[in-house]
Amino acid sequence: MAEQLDQFEIAVAQIKKAAKILNLDAGMVEILTHPKRELTVNFPVRMDDDSVRVFTGYRVQYNYSRGPCKGGVRYHPKVTLNEVRALAAWMTWKTAVVNLPFGGAKGGIIVDPKKLSRNELERLTRRYTSEISIIIGPEKDIPAPDVYTDSQTMAWMMDTYSMIKGYSVPGVVTGKPLSVGGSEGRSDATARGAMYVAKAAAKTAGIDTKKATVAVQGYGNAGSIGARLFHSDLGARVVAVSDSRGGIYLKEGIDLQKLDAHKAKSGSVINFPGSRNISNEELLTLDVDILVPAALENQITEKNASLIKAKMVVEEANGPTTPAADEILFKNGVFLLPDVLANAGGVTVSYFEWVQDIQSFFWSLEEVNQKLQRVMTTAYEGILPISKKENIDMRTAAYVYAVKKVVDAHIARGLWP
Ligand code: NAD
Repeated sequence: MAEQLDQFEIAVAQIKKAAKILNLDAGMVEILTHPKRELTVNFPVRMDDDSVRVFTGYRVQYNYSRGPCKGGVRYHPKVTLNEVRALAAWMTWKTAVVNLPFGGAKGGIIVDPKKLSRNELERLTRRYTSEISIIIGPEKDIPAPDVYTDSQTMAWMMDTYSMIKGYSVPGVVTGKPLSVGGSEGRSDATARGAMYVAKAAAKTAGIDTKKATVAVQGYGNAGSIGARLFHSDLGARVVAVSDSRGGIYLKEGIDLQKLDAHKAKSGSVINFPGSRNISNEELLTLDVDILVPAALENQITEKNASLIKAKMVVEEANGPTTPAADEILFKNGVFLLPDVLANAGGVTVSYFEWVQDIQSFFWSLEEVNQKLQRVMTTAYEGILPISKKENIDMRTAAYVYAVKKVVDAHIARGLWP
């Protein structure tokens, strides 16, 4: 049978796997496998040539038993309600993994942002914000950047929501510029969180990070900062990186500063002087200690999982490993740090931003990073014993850990009426 890759079906299968280990009753499983609230909005936007186009957007609030919903907004031509639903479910478990007092949500607009001017993007963002303003807010649901949205998008969202309210509400979105209530450390947070988890996990995986070699698939925001931090903070040697055009390998270790200059000039990491060009498939199966998928979903599948030689996989990307591949890696003794844990640093510093906005009291970069390390290490230390006790992979253990937190909240609150 071909491997099934529908994202929401995968999300439901993961919940059911955890539910079985937790021995949950059928009613609770029903609650956990259904999104709480889904809003679809069709809204008009005036284009630069004065024509009017109607766009479709979504906001899904998957579960808010533990607090306000939290999750990004994605602009992409392939956005579907089913995808947004799956991403909202994953945010629910991710916030629970790092024990933030949040539920999970996600938003999206079906649009190719590269085809819109900056002014059109601003009008699109503002109208979408006003359409979903009935369900967002600092105590209800707090959006953040995701694919093809950024700090400018968040500034427009914050301004639009504030105009509707009649006063400034910085806590309505996170990932904002520092000038309107953003947090120090937010742009590095995902990669830094992954580095802290890898640091805590290295011993269990039998790795001395100072002697370790690293391969990073996807030298973008998360991947390039991750590569830098694995080298600067853990002493590891980054021997391979890639982007959408291909990858490079350099046994002695890549000079990342020179690589950044090369990429800025040529638009890609490939053809970096002194290195050997490799394919993305080859990068995944290199003989390295640490493999960091930081690009797209469904990269490690049942087809290539048995070829992975890394001792540890750190998922900076969301959903890079399929369920069938998870089983193969676990059987082969590859220690995998799952996305809901490894890339939760981003949402953690988003939480810090929201807390700072609400208190109107801002922290230094050192304070942010110190608190981030504590949160990431605590999550890892909570999940590892479950994996050992139940003899299950770290993803399933993370789900058990997270789902239990959500279930405990449901039980404590009871079922109304
Ligand atoms: P990005 O667009 O900055 O980087 C993605 C990189 O992947 C780019 O360098 C691109 O060239 C490369 N790429 C695209 N297709 C590829 C392919 N087939 N093979 C190899 N590389 C390819 O995006 P990002 O923000 O770094 O996000 C990357 C992943 O990390 C996504 O899965 C995202 O959901 C996840 N993530 C990011 C954050 C964050 O804060 N940036 C937080 C949580 C999760």
